[in-house]
Amino acid sequence: MPKSLLLAAALLCSICFTAQAQHSSLFASYDCREHAEFFYSAPVEEVIVTDADVTVSLEVEEAVEAIDTLNGWKHWQYVENFHFGKDRGAMPMITDLNALHPYFRDRIKTLIETCEAKGITLAVVESYRTHAKQNEYKVMGKKYTNSGAGKSKHQYGLAVDVVPVVNGVAVWDNKALWKSVGVEGEKLGLRWGGRWRKPYDPGHFEWTGGLTSSHLAVGVLPPVPRVEDLYPCMAQDVRVLRRYWKEWETAQSAVTRK
Ligand SMILES: [Zn+2]
Repeated sequence: MPKSLLLAAALLCSICFTAQAQHSSLFASYDCREHAEFFYSAPVEEVIVTDADVTVSLEVEEAVEAIDTLNGWKHWQYVENFHFGKDRGAMPMITDLNALHPYFRDRIKTLIETCEAKGITLAVVESYRTHAKQNEYKVMGKKYTNSGAGKSKHQYGLAVDVVPVVNGVAVWDNKALWKSVGVEGEKLGLRWGGRWRKPYDPGHFEWTGGLTSSHLAVGVLPPVPRVEDLYPCMAQDVRVLRRYWKEWETAQSAVTRK
């Protein structure tokens, strides 16, 4: 084949691939797009033109591997104790919504947006929580939690703690304000800790799709509505998330042992 024809074929192939990439990122879920951006900014298609021939190489496998070795967990936002005016133990709290299960994360984003529209600003106090951090709360007493490591939905990225912020200050003791937030969360199908008594935990929201902590502990994933349409990258996202969670666990467990 003449060199010009080969080059044309190579370019066409490259265009096809780019078009496919855009299509996939357009319809993907939030998290999928995020990974897709990385994925497609990696050298997915590479056209090398030499005097002798035209080589097209698609380094797809390599790019997939690159996602799995990302150190995204290191960039998660976290806060130190007393950041929100309360004693929450010595270990930092992860506040990043990216640390949450993709479906639950989207529910929480909606909750934050809905509350904002009602004039209530919410801050994220804690999203994913390591086993080590959960144990710290357990030792701190019943005021904090009844659940030991692995028993809280926070260990599966399926729970979050928020607090309303007024004039830059976290407001922990306004029951009416909590109620307004709790009602919005319940409308989104979330379980609200403001309904609990021991402990009353109005900043806590969780969702498990009907699963219990025992299901979650053995790795069962909650059933997500229309998962294939709305979250085509769910399996991959959860795989990456679990890897990140494990890294955080290793880091915080190391602190505990000191
Ligand atoms: Zn909580």
